[in-house]
Amino acid sequence: MKQNYIDGNWVDGASTTANINPSNTSDVIGHYAQADAQQAQMAIAAAAAAAPGWALSNVQMRADALDKIGTEIIARKEELGTLLSREEGKTRVEGIGEAARAGAIFKFFAQECLRLRGDKLPSVRPNLDVEITREPVGVVGIIAPWNFPIAIPAWKIAPALAYGNCVLLKPAELVPGSAWALAEIISRAGLPNGVFNLVMGRGSVVGQAFLNDRRVNAISFTGSVGTGAKVAQACVGRLAKMQLEMGGKNPLVILNDADLATAVNCAVQGSFYSTGQRCTASSRLIVEKGIYPAFVAAVKDKLASLAIGDALAAGTDIGPVVDQSQLEQDMEYIRIGRDEGATLAFGGERLERDTPGFYLSPALFTDCSNDMRISREEIFGPVASVIPADNYEHALALANDTEFGLSSGIVTTSLKYATHYKRHAQAGMVMVNVPTAGVDYHVPFGGSKGSSFGSREQGSYAAEFFTTVKTAYCGV
Ligand code: NAD
Repeated sequence: MKQNYIDGNWVDGASTTANINPSNTSDVIGHYAQADAQQAQMAIAAAAAAAPGWALSNVQMRADALDKIGTEIIARKEELGTLLSREEGKTRVEGIGEAARAGAIFKFFAQECLRLRGDKLPSVRPNLDVEITREPVGVVGIIAPWNFPIAIPAWKIAPALAYGNCVLLKPAELVPGSAWALAEIISRAGLPNGVFNLVMGRGSVVGQAFLNDRRVNAISFTGSVGTGAKVAQACVGRLAKMQLEMGGKNPLVILNDADLATAVNCAVQGSFYSTGQRCTASSRLIVEKGIYPAFVAAVKDKLASLAIGDALAAGTDIGPVVDQSQLEQDMEYIRIGRDEGATLAFGGERLERDTPGFYLSPALFTDCSNDMRISREEIFGPVASVIPADNYEHALALANDTEFGLSSGIVTTSLKYATHYKRHAQAGMVMVNVPTAGVDYHVPFGGSKGSSFGSREQGSYAAEFFTTVKTAYCGV
């Protein structure tokens, strides 16, 4: 049984949960501890006790610890990536790529903590110095989703520790394995007891305990809009700092002048890889009418060539959906799309494979309008809507007509339209001739409108959330 890690000790939970492989539901990956509220409070107390000391810790020590963690993750990326794919269902290639990225994030923040800058300004008053410094926020509660089981915890934990905060990590219920493996690596990095704590358990129990407790100074949350709203309400109620990364309904615009192969690659990669279970997935393909027939035909051909199967099998392009309830949600949206009058041009069927798993063929709806529920609501599965557009201006208006604003893409060979789109797309991230999903680890990540709340994650911009600014005046 894999235990929780609290105050430098591995401890049993109040109960356990089985971690099941979505490619083969008879494969139990392991049993993992589940904390109750009381155990979550023990972890909070440990983090709060460690916070004053860690806030003043030497940055070389922090840099060494983060670098050690990153080095080990990269050295073990195949093993960690395989575990990730086994519990989440993205392919092994994708799992290994995610593990490598998590390692790179720790190594980036190992250096970044040495670069934390302040300011010293002349005062407007005589005989006075003004100094501006950044200090840790204190105890940070991290609440993570299941779709990036190691990268998302990494991109929250690494900056939190780099800038001198203590961490409480609550991974998603479906994917405790990657979080546990990451915690085990962190537990050997030489951090003082209580600086990092792993508290596996239910959102409504452990997550809620973090939200309710005044000793948790900040909450970094990634997940659905519904849960994000609950997190926001709780944080506002006690004036805790918060950062929310939530859903998307990301558009990919294909103009008549697009290179067809690039358009198909961006659409298929962005909409269906990782089983479409990415917040940055392009679930709306907005296609100018001149290229529409050729684009739809080429996407269908490409989808027909993909291997849908066991995430760990060599040659699999798309693994299973993460679990039964997500599969049911995907199937329900496929029914809704049909009822709304969209044409199911490809896929959308349950698939049988050698092992019992949640296999679904990628679903491509054509003749969609932007008003349909399948074009407005986040499905979070391998389902995409193709929406015709009269011209560039119409396509841009459709792309922006959404409550979300995470990632927004365009495929075009026109510098004029590419430049215009970068400026006018209402999203935190804009992609020209590349898929809407897939980002670098050293630059900001996050959205606008209903997709995000608070300051950006990743890159040097992470300091905004994980530090607080102090202005000191000194008479001279
Ligand atoms: P979710 O909202 O169901 O759960 C996210 C986390 O919140 C889990 O750890 C869960 O246990 C916890 N939680 C649930 N109820 C809680 C409560 N009452 N109090 C505190 N914590 C609680 O989301 P999910 O299904 O795990 O992930 C999918 C969602 O995440 C999608 O909407 C996707 O778009 C989003 N996502 C966003 C980004 C981004 O950066 N914008 C990245 C990945 C995923």
